[in-house]
Amino acid sequence: MKLPILPGSTIGVLGSGQLGRMFAISARRMGYRVHTLSPDSDTPTGQVADVEINAAYEDLDAVRAFARAVSAVTFEFENVPAATAAAAAEYARVRPSGSILHTTQHRLREKTFLANAGFPLAPFHPVRTADDLAAGLARFGYPCVLKSAGFGYDGKGQVKISAPSEAAAAFDSMPGAAAVPDAVLEAWVDFERELSVVSARAADGSAVHYGPMDNTHRNRILDIAVSPAPIGPRVSREAIAIASSVLEALDVVGVLCVEMFLTQSGKLLINELAPRPHNSGHLTVDACVTSQFEQQLRAVCGLPLGSPELLRPAAMANLLGDSWANGEPRWAAACAHPQAKLHLYGKLEPRPGRKMGHITALAETAGEAERLVRAARGSL
Ligand code: AMP
Repeated sequence: MKLPILPGSTIGVLGSGQLGRMFAISARRMGYRVHTLSPDSDTPTGQVADVEINAAYEDLDAVRAFARAVSAVTFEFENVPAATAAAAAEYARVRPSGSILHTTQHRLREKTFLANAGFPLAPFHPVRTADDLAAGLARFGYPCVLKSAGFGYDGKGQVKISAPSEAAAAFDSMPGAAAVPDAVLEAWVDFERELSVVSARAADGSAVHYGPMDNTHRNRILDIAVSPAPIGPRVSREAIAIASSVLEALDVVGVLCVEMFLTQSGKLLINELAPRPHNSGHLTVDACVTSQFEQQLRAVCGLPLGSPELLRPAAMANLLGDSWANGEPRWAAACAHPQAKLHLYGKLEPRPGRKMGHITALAETAGEAERLVRAARGSL
C-alpha cells in the first residue's frame, strides 16, 4: 500500500463548487493545502483554497501542471472528461479512479454495470431512436421517465412521460436528439420514500457508512435530508449492505453516495450513484464525529477513516437561488434560530434552482430537527 499523504501536503480538487469548498475547509482544518481547477473564477472552492486555477477540463497541459503541484487529485465534479483524469494520473494519485467516473458519469453505463452485478434497480431501457422509446414504453406502460444518459443531475435532462401523446416531445427534448440521443427510459417507481447511503472506503478496503438519510425532493432537487431515516432496522441494514457492495464492486477509494427508492412493498432499488460527497450528506458536517468531506480527505490520503457516528438526530434544508427572489434573504432572521447552522457557498449569482447554501439543525428527534430547519429557512 502507498504511504499516506500527510498533513502539510497539497491536495488538488477538480471542480470548484460547494462540495470542493466543504472539502477544502476540512482539508485546511487538518493542515493540508488545497488547489482547485475549474473553468470558473472566484468559485466556492477557490475562495477557500490556497490556489485557484482557471482552466478548461479539456486543457490537458493545465491539468498536468495542476497535478504536478499536488500529491493527490480528487473530484468534486464527476463529469470531467476521462482524458482529464488520465492526464492528472500521470503526475498524482487520483481518487476515486478515472474508471469509476467513467462508469458513473453515464446513466446507461452505470445502470448496465449495476444490473450486471445483480443490484436491484428500476427496470430501464436504452433509448437512441424513437423506435427504442416506443419499445420501452410498450414494455413499461405509463408513466415512465426518460433521462439523458450523460450530464444529468438534479433532475436535469429528465422528462416524465404520462401518456403516448407526450412521447415525441420527450424524445425531442433529449440533448443530442437531432443527431443520436443517448438516453434511458425508466419505469416509474411509486416509492414510499427516497433514501441515500453515503459511504467512504479506504485503500485497504475498510469502509464506513452514514445513514441511511431520508431525502425529500422538490422539483427533482433535494430539498430536505433527515437522519436517522424513519425506517426499520431491516431496511436500514439492507440499504447499507447495498452501498457496501457497490463500493466493493467499483473498488472505490473515496466517498460514494448510493441514492435509492424504498418502494411501497418495502424493496430497495438503486436510483443513482455519485462518486463523491453528496448533498444528502451535508448534515454530517454538523452532526457526525467525522464529516463526509473529512472521510474523502482521509480516503484520498490513505489515512484511516474516521467514525461516521451521528451525534444527534439531524436535518438539513437546502437553500436555492429562489430564496433571493425578493432580494437578499434575511440572514439575521435565520440566525435567530439558535439551533440552526447556516452554510453559504459564496456563489455570486443566485439563479432559481441553484444550490446556494443549506441549513442544518440537531435535535432530540429527527422530526424536531426537520421542524427546526424548515422554520429557520422559512424565516429568511
Ligand atoms: P435523478 O436525477 O435520477 O436522481 O432524479 C431526480 C429525482 O426525480 C429523484 O430523486 C426522484 O425524486 C425523481 N425520479 C427519478 N427517477 C424516478 C423514477 N423512475 N420514478 C419516480 N421518481 C423518479
